[in-house]
Amino acid sequence: MKKQIKRRVFLWLLPVIVCVLSFGFLIAMMASFLGMQVEEESSDGTGCSVTGEVDVAKLNEGLKRAGVFQGKGQLFVDIAEKQGIDPILFIAISMSETGWGKSNAVREKNNPGGIMDSATNMQTVKHFASLEEGLEAMGVTLHNRIVKDGLNTIDKLGNVYAPIGVSNDPTNLNANWIPTVKGIAEKFGGLTSGCDSGGNTGTGHYIIPVDAPVISSGFINRINPVTGAFESHKGLDFAQPIGSNIKAADDGVVVFASFGIRGHGFGDYGNCVLIEHAKTKEWTLYAHQSELLVKVGQHVQKGEIIGKVGSTGQSTGPHLHFEVRKSKMGNQVNPAIVLGIKGAK
Ligand SMILES: [Zn+2]
Repeated sequence: MKKQIKRRVFLWLLPVIVCVLSFGFLIAMMASFLGMQVEEESSDGTGCSVTGEVDVAKLNEGLKRAGVFQGKGQLFVDIAEKQGIDPILFIAISMSETGWGKSNAVREKNNPGGIMDSATNMQTVKHFASLEEGLEAMGVTLHNRIVKDGLNTIDKLGNVYAPIGVSNDPTNLNANWIPTVKGIAEKFGGLTSGCDSGGNTGTGHYIIPVDAPVISSGFINRINPVTGAFESHKGLDFAQPIGSNIKAADDGVVVFASFGIRGHGFGDYGNCVLIEHAKTKEWTLYAHQSELLVKVGQHVQKGEIIGKVGSTGQSTGPHLHFEVRKSKMGNQVNPAIVLGIKGAK
């Protein structure tokens, strides 16, 4: 009798177990799907979109002789993530401000960012209970300057952090701030992200990216001149002399700058640059260049020369293939309409 009851209970439990297991599986699937969604959103120009990999082990390698910051790579990354700022920029400024983690302010007061103490009428640097607290406060300050005020380049930050020619800098040390921070950022592999500055980045109005534009192919369905296949041509072609200047259509951050390889999203484009524009949440692409003059992570300004016209990749002659994208990897819209070029298809 007892045995029978036990078996019955087990038989009852079996479907329940199966159900719980499959439900768990479903939840896991949904979580991973949601995770993917979140990741996609963050690269969509909202907040800080990380365009490069941040390798904490490498950061710690670079911080090996950085005094109090030794082994603090993860802490920098965590705070940077929370504040929507570039971890490499955060590290570079911290190293510059503290002489690589060895200044008195950071060793004795856990203050890496030169934050003054309002309790002493800003006459002394603030004393933080821990280095983590000091870094957190510095992260907030950087967030305010970079994200809120739109000082999203080292140059723009330098003009505020270390203005040249001010009375409290008689020996002109501030002149070194920008090159020093840039140099340290390079040592850590260069900046990894472009930040949305809350609407201050760019004008939202694109300029034609070449001088004396001559449109040789519109945004149309056509027979591909190289392959002979029918295709929809997703950009505008400007036939230009080889080596002529290519200009950024608006302020933005370079998120791709190299020879496009098939299967990696930029096949047939040759030397290609993709710029993310925070203002419009759009991307502009510049293909077939003979020379690339910008690097990933670099902030460019509207009209800045980013490369030279060429005929690399799938191309029959020197021209700039220009795209305006609604998402990073596609969703092209007709640049002629965006640029207001009349008569072009
Ligand atoms: Zn084209």
